[in-house]
Amino acid sequence: MIPAPFEYVRAETVEEAIAALGSYEDAKLLAGGHSLLPAMRLRVARPGTLVDIGRLRDLSYVRDDGDAVSIGALTRHHDVSNDEVLQELCPIVAYTAEQIGDPQVRHMGTIGGSVAHGDPAGDMPSVMLALDATFVAQGPAGRREIGAGEFFTSLFETALAHDEVLTEIRVPKTTEGWSYLKFHRRALDWALVGVAAVRTNGGARVGLTNMGFTPIRARGVEEALAGGADPASASTRADEGTSPPSDSFGSAEYRRSLVKVLVKRALEEAMA
Ligand code: FAD
Repeated sequence: MIPAPFEYVRAETVEEAIAALGSYEDAKLLAGGHSLLPAMRLRVARPGTLVDIGRLRDLSYVRDDGDAVSIGALTRHHDVSNDEVLQELCPIVAYTAEQIGDPQVRHMGTIGGSVAHGDPAGDMPSVMLALDATFVAQGPAGRREIGAGEFFTSLFETALAHDEVLTEIRVPKTTEGWSYLKFHRRALDWALVGVAAVRTNGGARVGLTNMGFTPIRARGVEEALAGGADPASASTRADEGTSPPSDSFGSAEYRRSLVKVLVKRALEEAMA
C-alpha cells in the first residue's frame, strides 16, 4: 500500500531534530526506516511529518567508556555486529545484531530505532533488559538517562517523550556468562520467542522476546535462581507474568511451553 501523505524534513543536527519534533504537528523521527516505513505503508502509522535523522553520522559509534560500552543510537545493526570493541567487551550485543533480519535490514536498521520502536518481537530490547542497559535521551530540556527497566512502557511505546531523541545506549561490559537464543522457523524470520540471559552474582537477569506487550524480564526465573534453584527448575517459572500472542506462527500456549525450554538452555549456556 502507499503511505498516507506526509511532510519530510532532514535534520543536520540532534538539536535541529528536537526543534522539528516540537514544531511540526504529529512528527516522527526516521532513522533506518525499516520499522517505520513498513508501518506507514500498512497505514498503521500516519505521521504528519518525518524528521530524517538517518544522516547524523556523529551518532554512529561504539566507544569503550570504562565500565561500559557506549553505542551511538544511529549505529547500524551491521556495524554493531562487526564492531571489535563490542565483540570483545559485550559480545551478546554484537551477536544479537547479527541475528536481526537479513543483510539489507542490517545495513539500514539502527540499534536506536530497534529499541525506540518498542516492538516486543524485536531482538535487541530483551538483550538490553538482560544487560540492564542505560538509554540516553536528548530533548528541549537537555539530556537524561533512562534505565532499560523503565524504558519499555507498552506495546510500541517507550519512556521517550515525543520531542526527545535517543542518542546513546550504554551497556555494561559483559565478556562472559551470556546467551541469546532466538527461536524461529526460517533463518531470516523474526523470533517466535527469544531469550536473553546474563549471569550476575546471585543468579542471572533474563529478558524475553515476543512474550507480551513489551519485552519482559522473567522475574520468576530470576527469583528462583536467587533462591538457589538450578536452571532446570528455575525455567519452569519462565512464563510467569507473560501474555504471549497467538498468531499464524504459534499459539500462546506453544510459546509458553517454548519459553521454558529456551530459558533453561539459555541459563545453562550463560552459567556454564
Ligand atoms: P525506524 O524504522 O526509522 O524507526 C522506528 C521507530 O523508532 C520510529 O517510531 C522512529 O520515530 C523511532 N526512532 C528511530 N530512531 C530513533 C531515535 N534515535 N530516537 C527516538 N526515536 C527513534 N528486527 C528485529 O529485532 N529482528 C528481526 O528479525 C527483524 N527482522 C526484520 C525483517 C524485515 C524484513 C524488516 C523490514 C525489519 C526487521 N526488523 C527486525 C526490524 C529492524 O531491526 C529495524 O531496523 C528496527 O526495528 C528499527 O530501526 P530503524 O533504524 O529502521 O528505525
